[in-house]
Amino acid sequence: MHGTYHGTQIMKRGIAFSLVNLHVSLMAHALFAIGFLLTCQAVAVAQTADSATDSDTFANSTASAVVFMYHRFGEDRLPSTNIRIDQFESHIAELSSGGYHVLPLPEILSALREGRGLPDRTVGITIDDGFRSVYTQAFPRLQEAGFPFTVFIATDGIDSGNKNLMSWDQVRELAAQGVTIGAHTASHLHMVDSTTSKNRDDIARSNARFHEELGYTPRLFAYPYGESGLEAAAMAEAAGYEAAFGQHSGVVYPGSDFFNLPRFALNEKYGTPERFRRVADALPLPVTDLLPADMVLNTDLPAVGFTVDEGIRHLNRLACFPSTGPQAMVEHLGGRRIEVRFVNPLPQGRSRLNCTLPGPEERWRWLGMMFYRLPPAAGE
Ligand SMILES: [Zn+2]
Repeated sequence: MHGTYHGTQIMKRGIAFSLVNLHVSLMAHALFAIGFLLTCQAVAVAQTADSATDSDTFANSTASAVVFMYHRFGEDRLPSTNIRIDQFESHIAELSSGGYHVLPLPEILSALREGRGLPDRTVGITIDDGFRSVYTQAFPRLQEAGFPFTVFIATDGIDSGNKNLMSWDQVRELAAQGVTIGAHTASHLHMVDSTTSKNRDDIARSNARFHEELGYTPRLFAYPYGESGLEAAAMAEAAGYEAAFGQHSGVVYPGSDFFNLPRFALNEKYGTPERFRRVADALPLPVTDLLPADMVLNTDLPAVGFTVDEGIRHLNRLACFPSTGPQAMVEHLGGRRIEVRFVNPLPQGRSRLNCTLPGPEERWRWLGMMFYRLPPAAGE
């Protein structure tokens, strides 16, 4: 199982050693006695950090990061993928003044993978597709604020000379200024609806074009439309990427599937200052044994379930909301195992599920999923 494999490996490398000692003595008592609702990961990472040379770096260490996803800036005729400039400036103001730490995505991911701590309220900024307004609107504002960011670019569009997209010269200028350039396939295809060989060729073409234009191939990848699944994830890994992002909500933490990482999408509807603050403050809902293992589904009523980590309290307040249909039913199967049952069947194509739980300091723990229901096979 691809997702669990990654999570498990990371857990083993990063934190398992200290859990042996911590689990019995700490879990029951000290966790809450210190007045801070730390997850297993956070406790263990803090322990790891104690032996680091610069322990101040980890003074308020946690083990998660919120990653945002934008597309267009100030292109108000396309509100579903656009953020208005006044909204974007309010986000920058909040990140500048609100005790956040905006860090480069590669740094965030390696810190989480290697079990190093991150400052509390660490944030990563990503922008998909490489529209011209990234260069004209977002870049100057983010640069002035001193915020690093990542742009995921589909190379065919840049090659086409489309005036709504950046040119290679502009992409090179961003890269020269320290912007992380990520891959997003060549043709921005629906990988889940495509064939294995088409997907492989598309990614290979993208990597070749980046190599020709930038002199390197990106380390990070974002699935077009956020649609991955086990096959696409295996392909992204085989192509040499170190991690890959989807478009489902949630918080990145050491137990995340690093080839299906969550991001909070920001557009005109979801980019209000209130919503921005709420998701910027979000914490992970750490789980294991997440089902379904593959987001690509052959059924309209998938079995969704997960086991919530020890130390997460108030599980009775967990609520799950599908993007289509009414609130899902949450069943507690004894212990910490949760099963989520949809009231309505999932439609064909993309849908999402968001599970949230009130956390410490009025912050929300968040677990998001995306599903892609295939059309019925011929003859069915
Ligand atoms: Zn895209």
